[in-house]
Parts: sequence; C-alpha cells; structure tokens
Amino acid sequence: MDGTAEGGQDTRGAVRARDAQYIDGRWRPAAGGGRIDVVDPVTEKVIGQVPAGTAEDVDTAVRAARAALPGWAATPPAERAAVLGAVRDLMVARRAEIAATVTAELGAPPAFATAVHTDMPTAVMGSFAAIAAAYTFEEQVGNSRVFQEPVGVVGAITPWNYPLHQVVAKAAPALAAGCTVVLKPAEDTPLVAQLFAAILDEAGLPAGVFNLVTGLGPVAGQALAEHPGVDLVSFTGSTAVGRQIGATAGAAVKRVALELGGKSANVILPGADLARAVNVGIANVFANSGQTCSAWTRMLVDAARYDEAVELAVTAAAKYVPGERLGPVVNAKQRERVRGYIRRGVAEGGRIVAGGPEAPDGMDTGYFVRPTVFADVTPGTTIAQEEIFGPVVVLMKYEDEADALRIANGTVYGLAGAVWGADEAAAVAFARRMDTGQVDINGGRFNPLAPFGGYKQSGVGRELGVHGLAEYLQTKSLQF
Ligand code: NAD
Repeated sequence: MDGTAEGGQDTRGAVRARDAQYIDGRWRPAAGGGRIDVVDPVTEKVIGQVPAGTAEDVDTAVRAARAALPGWAATPPAERAAVLGAVRDLMVARRAEIAATVTAELGAPPAFATAVHTDMPTAVMGSFAAIAAAYTFEEQVGNSRVFQEPVGVVGAITPWNYPLHQVVAKAAPALAAGCTVVLKPAEDTPLVAQLFAAILDEAGLPAGVFNLVTGLGPVAGQALAEHPGVDLVSFTGSTAVGRQIGATAGAAVKRVALELGGKSANVILPGADLARAVNVGIANVFANSGQTCSAWTRMLVDAARYDEAVELAVTAAAKYVPGERLGPVVNAKQRERVRGYIRRGVAEGGRIVAGGPEAPDGMDTGYFVRPTVFADVTPGTTIAQEEIFGPVVVLMKYEDEADALRIANGTVYGLAGAVWGADEAAAVAFARRMDTGQVDINGGRFNPLAPFGGYKQSGVGRELGVHGLAEYLQTKSLQF
C-alpha cells in the first residue's frame, strides 16, 4: 500500500500530504487532532497539512519499533541489503515526485532539487545497500568470536535543510545495521519524509521497522528524545537543541549522535587558482540558499590578493538571481534571522559589497534573501563566528599561513572546510592542521562513502560510509 487511502490529499501536482502517521506498517490517524500547515516558501501558500504528533503517537511508534526489532535484527544482512537496494531503485523510479516534493516544501529550484536533494540521498541509500552486503558483522579475533549487533531502536530527529538526505543519512545505516527506527522530521518539510515512508512500505520493509511521526520539535521531538524505549538518538539540527538532546541522552546513559552547526573556512592559499577557488566557494555557500551546515561561509584570502578576490566574489554572487538560481530560505522566521545577521554585520563594521538586508527588487512574496557578500570582516565579529544559515559569505584577509590557520580554527565549530593551493601536498598539510571533520582539497567531490561529522561543537559521531554504519552497531565478544 502506498498510503494514499487514509487521509490522502492531493496538493500541487505530484505533491501529496497525508493526514496520518506511518506506524507499524500502516498509515493511521494521529492520536491528537492538531495539524501543521506545510507552506511553499516561494508562494507563501499552504500546500498541505500533516498531523501535529503527540507523545502518544511517539509512544505507539516506539512500541512498534521495539516489537519489530528482534525480527529485523535477526534478518541476514544480505536480506536487509536487498530491501535497501529495492528502496534505492524506487527512489530512482520516483525521482520526479521526490524532487517536486522538495521544491514544494523547501522552495529548492527544480534542477537543484533533482541533482542534489534527490540524487544525493539516492546515492547514499545505494551505498548502504552495498555496505550492508559486504560488511563484516562477525569475525574471529584470537579465541573470541566478535559480533557487530544493532544498537536497537533509533530515534531520528532531522532538520529541513536537506529534508530527504538528512533522513536517509540516518535511516539507511540504521536499517543496514539491523536497528528499527522512529523518525521525527522537521515540521517545515514533512512531505518528503512521508513520501520516503511510502517508498519503504512499497519496498517491502517489514511492519514496524520504520515508523514516522510528524510533529513539532518541543512536543514530538522531545518525546522521542526522552522515550525510555529508544536506545540511540540521532539528531541533526541546531546546536542549542543538540546540547539539550545530548544532556537528556547522557542522563539516561543512552547512545547519541549529533550533527550540529558549522562555520566552515574556505582557505585560499597564496598560489591557488583564485578565480576557481572563489567561484566554487561562492557556489558552495549560495547552494540551497546558504542552508547547508557544511557551507564554506568564511572565505580566507591572503592580503595581496584580497581585493581581487572581493571583485571575483561580487561577480560570482551576481549569478545567484533570487527566484531563479537562488531559492528562498525555508520560512519567514529564518528570513528575518538571516536579515538580522546582515544588519548586525554592518553594525559591527563589515562592508557589504553585494546584496544586503532588503528584499530583492520586486519580490514581495516568498522568503527570499539577497545573496550577500561581506568584505572587511574581522574574525571576532558575530557574522564571522555564528552560523547564519542563509546566502551570506564573509571574506577575511590573512597575513601568512599561521594567521590563516588561527582564523580558520577560531570558532566553536569544526564541521567542514576547503583548502586551495597550487601545491597539493601543502594544501593537505594545511588541512591536517584544521580542527574540522571534512576538508575538500582544490574543490573536492561529494563521496557518499566519506565519513561526515564534526569536531568541537559541530557534533558527536559520523554519518555516511562504514563510519556511519558503525554508529548504529554495538560490539559483543564470545570467548572460547
Ligand atoms: P532545530 O534544531 O530547532 O530543529 C531540528 C529538528 O529538531 C527538527 O525536527 C525540530 O522539530 C527538532 N526539535 C526542535 N526542538 C526540539 C526539542 N526540544 N527536542 C527534540 N527535537 C527538537 O533547528 P531549526 O530551528 O530548524 O534551525 C535553527 C538553526 O539550526 C538554523 O538556523 C541552523 O543554524 C541550524 N541548523 C543546522 C542544521 C545542520 O544540518 N547542522 C540543519 C538545520 C538547522
């Protein structure tokens, strides 16, 4: 069943909102009567409603996940891999529907919604099907037999910025490991999560192995994080909520994985191809309207080439026309937050060389923010330290490599980064000294097998690849 029977409601073309929770293999009415409006950030119109789940829905879902755990944990990894492979194939088959859904609820331009929001999680799902099939879940170590066993019931709480990728980055390794899952997706983007649940259902995942409860963070999210029947909480989102979830998990001595914010540095070394480094750097920040936790939001350029870099950045930013290549941010609150940061940047002495806090010309509707480039930003200021999560980049000047490293490492975050240099070995040596989890050398390319996660306050744990799978496993040894 694809879940349309109960409360199915066509919205915009292929985009569908379901007035039901997916629990124990079927779409069932929510316990409470509350609803959440889903808004198209381009039109500001309500495109559907989903249930505002309660602690009761979460409890029902966790019980279903716990009941399904022994069967799924005992399913041979090759069979689990086969289901994930079928899910991946269905994601390919439903590519247009997934992309249309992300465009509708996030406002992502269609080309980006397809190439990134759809194809990236599809690749990640495929990678975990392959990893599950090949992984060594059992090995002999001396006179011991060592088993990698699923941690148990996973509570997954995800944000809106990459609404399907963030879900798949948790659900795929959890299911590959033999865990069962309760997902609470972001309230702004529940529709693609519902579509994903329908795909898992169609792929034949046994009832209760994956469950979806839509709802608000402080209600459904918190109930999931606090539920004693959850063995591991995997959270992606703001540092403030992550800290709270970490504390709750710590009190219960429960596993926790946190993917939090970032303020990543794009370090352009003196010999680097400046035009390429700046162009790719700007594209990296403005993709997804700046709503990327790993975005290279701080561009570091040597003093000798700083003015040239500013000019290149302004030219590159001009290509991000709001409503065309640049989509809106997710909601009105986020738009005001980003504009507030831009005003604060000016107040603290930054010089706007492109964009600004005003609405883009002639755009009264939609949560658009002008693509904004700041020059003359000093490392200690707010816009150089805090995650803005909008299309805003700051350009900073460094004197020498030691200065560049000090600035690059000078925030509480450490999620990602980039280093550009004519000498690759020197760029690698610099990257090794950065306090951050993932660095792209001279551009880099997305690798679904590369571990992703934070140093410092960017988080705890890793997603993707075998490191991502390991988060969902616990080790048992038998001695003979
Ligand atoms: P958020 O942390 O409030 O929300 C993320 C998820 O957590 C959502 O599903 C939300 O419903 C849930 N949640 C909220 N409060 C909760 C609680 N008390 N207990 C359990 N779950 C809870 O993030 P946001 O408000 O959507 O975004 C705010 C900022 O977070 C952004 O501006 C950005 O800086 C950062 N952010 C980071 C990422 C990332 O990938 N690292 C993603 C989205 C947002």
